[in-house]
Amino acid sequence: MRNQLQRSLSRKKKGSNRRKKAIKRVGKAHLKVSNKRKDFHYKTALKLLQQGKHVAHEKLNIKGLAKSRLTKSVNDAGWGQFLQILSIKAERAGLLAIAVLPGGTSQNCSGCGHKVNKELSDRWHSCHHCGCSLDRDHNAAINIKHRAVGHSVLKAQATPDAIAGVTEKPTLYASASV
Ligand SMILES: [Zn+2]
Repeated sequence: MRNQLQRSLSRKKKGSNRRKKAIKRVGKAHLKVSNKRKDFHYKTALKLLQQGKHVAHEKLNIKGLAKSRLTKSVNDAGWGQFLQILSIKAERAGLLAIAVLPGGTSQNCSGCGHKVNKELSDRWHSCHHCGCSLDRDHNAAINIKHRAVGHSVLKAQATPDAIAGVTEKPTLYASASV
């Protein structure tokens, strides 16, 4: 819809009344999308905070992501805005939103801490050391939860350069009741 309006705008003569009207229409469409997104962010934050006393999430490396191929998806989803809303809502409710360093959360096994290398397309975590087998995001969520509370499995395995790395995927893994 936005693209259609944008195209229609580019066909209008500069300075014409039709063009002015088209500009207004494009602006309105943008606003509508951004309001919808914000509303979704508020509702999601509320839902998460109703589930537990803490919500842990990966610290978002906006600078690092801006240079990566994920730039567009990060901007489109408005991760920065969402995390801001989440932390404000948490504070007002007397709850805690904890940002943890993202390095290794997808690759490490949440059961034993061993590194299980995965490509971004590998959606399943399967550890040969301890037999842990679960969805990739679920595994990462447990790791984030562990890191938020200082669990020994991740603490022991996290290497300094893994911690300093840019997260490969800007997903928020929230886990309630840490
Ligand atoms: Zn394991």
